[in-house]
Amino acid sequence: MSRPAGVLLTLCLSMPLLAAGAEPVLVLHGGAGVERKDLSPAEETAARAALRQALLSGHRALAAGKPALEAVTAAITVLEDDPTFNAGKGAVFTHDGRNELDASLMDGASLKAGAVAGVQRVRNPILLAEAVMQHSPHVMMVGQGAEAFAATQGISLVDPSYFRTEKRWQQLQRALKEEAAGQAHADLETARHFGTVGAVALDAQGHLAAGTSTGGMTNKRYGRVGDSPIIGAGTYANATCAVSGTGWGEYYIRTAAAYDICARMQYLKQGPVEAGRAVINERIPALGGDGGAIVLAADGRAATPFNTQGMYRGWIGADGVPHVAIFADEPLPLPGQ
Ligand code: ASP
Repeated sequence: MSRPAGVLLTLCLSMPLLAAGAEPVLVLHGGAGVERKDLSPAEETAARAALRQALLSGHRALAAGKPALEAVTAAITVLEDDPTFNAGKGAVFTHDGRNELDASLMDGASLKAGAVAGVQRVRNPILLAEAVMQHSPHVMMVGQGAEAFAATQGISLVDPSYFRTEKRWQQLQRALKEEAAGQAHADLETARHFGTVGAVALDAQGHLAAGTSTGGMTNKRYGRVGDSPIIGAGTYANATCAVSGTGWGEYYIRTAAAYDICARMQYLKQGPVEAGRAVINERIPALGGDGGAIVLAADGRAATPFNTQGMYRGWIGADGVPHVAIFADEPLPLPGQ
């Protein structure tokens, strides 16, 4: 082999193999259902800062050539640790005054997935979902069993009081009062403050991953599990697309929302905007549900559809500049749009 050809080959082998035209990108959400009247200026500033920090954390992983899965967990753990969002610390309360957390993760290249539901002592449920995926033969573990597994994996366990914030506690008190006053579906007004977190990423190898973490919905009853830990409902990733949803989980389960978006992209060749709109802005509202999603295609095109007044959202590309938005009237030009 001539010297220039050898140099070229070495260069090619050391360069990441990108899907045609794709650059690493991470998109995240911090929940739909957010309204201006719910956020003080200080809370809004804190939320934007947390979104940026999560984007930068995921970007660091992607820029270091790490797999999309790692970028997704890096971004989600930042949001779980931030009390602004309904995941990890700051999770909403159940009817009985507990925090019961759900999370899931999916690797688009291998179709491997991990999920946990109803855990009360796991500081970062997304890391437990990752451990279920990587270190167990199972996809989903719930409750005490999931926590027993966490202990074997060196996953950080905390006292349940760690998750408590006053704001979420007051939201539960309001929901309980409305319910006691007999207002039909009274809990739903409070439940609109969804705040679940999720991330989707495309790595330097052209592989996709998706993850979601949540405290569920305020005033949920014992044992209620929403869409977030259900593969195909709140989270899905394959070689074509990655999706994380947020919203009224029962509707996402009934429509297999995340999988439906991916299936439309894979089989109907719809783009992320069209597929996201069909499910989030048409199918789910037609049944009476609401919420949003983030969608990423293998060629780097993204969409962040939602049908509420706002959704905490953001993305970061190869240049490492974080872009964030909260309200519906805020433009957020996305890759490929
Ligand atoms: N989808 C979540 C659930 O139903 C709630 C949310 O997105 O905030 O549990």
